[in-house]
Amino acid sequence: MMHLFSLRGAPLRAATLVSLLAACVDSADDAAVNATHDDTASGESARHRRGRAKNVILFIGDGMGTSTITATRVLSVGIDGELVIDQLPYSALSRTADADHITPDSASTMTSMMTGVNTNSGVIGLGPTTEFGDFNGDGDGERLTTLLELAKQRGMRAGVVSTARVTHATPAACYAHINNRDNEAAIALQALPTDATYNSALAGGLDLIMGGGRQFFVPKAVVDEEGGAGARTDGRDLRAEYQAAGYHYVWNAQQFASLGHRDLPVLGLFDRGHMEYEIDRPTDLGGEPSLSEMTAKSVDIFERATRFRRQGYFLMVEAGRIDHAHHAGNAYRALTDTEELDRAVWEAIRRVDLSNTLILVTADHSHVFTMAGYPLRQAAELPYPVASAPPEYLASPHNNLFDVVYDVNDSGEVVKSLDAKGVPYTVLGYHNGPGYRGAPRVDPAADPFAGSTGKPGAGPNHPDYRQEAAVPLGSETHAGEDVALFAVGAGASLVRGTVKNSFVFDVMASVLGL
Ligand SMILES: [Zn+2]
Repeated sequence: MMHLFSLRGAPLRAATLVSLLAACVDSADDAAVNATHDDTASGESARHRRGRAKNVILFIGDGMGTSTITATRVLSVGIDGELVIDQLPYSALSRTADADHITPDSASTMTSMMTGVNTNSGVIGLGPTTEFGDFNGDGDGERLTTLLELAKQRGMRAGVVSTARVTHATPAACYAHINNRDNEAAIALQALPTDATYNSALAGGLDLIMGGGRQFFVPKAVVDEEGGAGARTDGRDLRAEYQAAGYHYVWNAQQFASLGHRDLPVLGLFDRGHMEYEIDRPTDLGGEPSLSEMTAKSVDIFERATRFRRQGYFLMVEAGRIDHAHHAGNAYRALTDTEELDRAVWEAIRRVDLSNTLILVTADHSHVFTMAGYPLRQAAELPYPVASAPPEYLASPHNNLFDVVYDVNDSGEVVKSLDAKGVPYTVLGYHNGPGYRGAPRVDPAADPFAGSTGKPGAGPNHPDYRQEAAVPLGSETHAGEDVALFAVGAGASLVRGTVKNSFVFDVMASVLGL
């Protein structure tokens, strides 16, 4: 019934397993198990029996469709391995269509997950009579209430963590209300307690904000800590204004490392724009934390800050750049950022008491990314001997995931699969995007097409390789199929079946009793 958690050989902590087991037992029908984990002093058991949680951590893999999860599994732990999210005991399919599009964006989907109301693409925290940018000029629709606002009004701690800009759609939909997601300079003001446009529904304000996006906190004429220009046209330096409002401001890995619970509220802005992709992090000028490090730190701080309090915390953690790598047609960075999200989920699981904490992991939408052909497993995994195999197949890195498709023919020989014109093709590809090559197709191994960093001829196994796309587009697009929703911890058994993504709000509000 239960999988044991493991992470690439990381030792399983007994405490984690015990609390995991407690959390996985449906509270209503197993009082005996509850009794063995009873903690009458804190009332946790009573809370547990009511299907309630003290804390909720919501992980969003931006653009993390199920094909992205499957491909990450192959890359990271092998075809037959299990990621941490594969091991979460409850899951559902989540429908993502928004109020005006079959295939949605991150603003409407996160609004749906944070408010329970489906709205239009590009709109944050406002109801479906709001057009993107109010193009009908008839004013905004209903101002919705977010889960984070309800948590703050209840006296809980609340924070957002993202590898994207902290004013980008996903984190913004936790704390802002605006008809155009691109107005990030205005979004940055809505979380500033001393500003006239402050979102007073946040009560005392966000306790923790960490990610990229410093440009929307720095005036245009000013150069920031890492030599980048600000983007604010109102001349205001929000770094100073947030500090004046009581925030502890940090901008590099060293300052991040010294953060503790006494530093709340925290504003961490680690990059001018989005933070680096996980594999590019060593190139960052000031040094920046990984998503799993930000998650570990945030959970440590919130656990410590709420240890002796009745009210817990709500934390949203976004792997924001899975989406960006896919838009760039670069699968390697999308998958390695997904791998980092998986690590972040583990860092949260091992830090919390799953009998009082609900952890959800989902995506806002998918991408037109797929695994194609009938690629043979790597040689060591084949259950039979083959007559012959080319050395490139035998030496293929990354579990043969990024290479051209090899298959076994009727004579038992491993050969490259060919398209209708006799040209090989890769396992991974996109329906559309910047990876379009034009006709005729060329062998990926000899393809001079520029990779994601502009250098030509990277080859399909290079991290910069842009997988082929069928339709030429400057930016690859989202996809409309359902995404997965995973759950572990208090109330996790509510997550099952096929649901609308607004269910994410319903389940969080329900377990927190909001
Ligand atoms: Zn996107």
